[in-house]
Amino acid sequence: MKLFSNTLGFRTGAHIELVNITPDVSRLVAKSGVREGIALVYSPHTTTALIINENEPRLLNDLREAIKDLIPWDKAYEHNLIDDNAPSHIVGAFLGNSLALPITRGKIELGTWQSIFLVELDGSRSREIKVKIVGE
Ligand code: ZN
Repeated sequence: MKLFSNTLGFRTGAHIELVNITPDVSRLVAKSGVREGIALVYSPHTTTALIINENEPRLLNDLREAIKDLIPWDKAYEHNLIDDNAPSHIVGAFLGNSLALPITRGKIELGTWQSIFLVELDGSRSREIKVKIVGE
């Protein structure tokens, strides 16, 4: 069994942004040499999320708007007394911060319309995404 670990770095630009990281994760899967296995994609941040969805520009705008509508962003959250970003943490907790992806015949088994997105919820910032690939 092979175990391959790597870290991807991203600089986000907007306060809320969806960054397509599919090419970067796919490149690591190819580099790992794993043909059958699992890729764990993990964000070690508390104000980001990882999701899979369609890379269609208008849908990405809709997703950004839906994220803004999920919770009130101007509420008097307690966390805002020490760090003015409680909504970013809350949405991050709702969306989740890891993905387990099946690898088949050396490739991530994404559906035709699926891409992997890092969701920035408190940009702009430098972000790291950890990738662990296990398999044969
Ligand atoms: Zn905070």
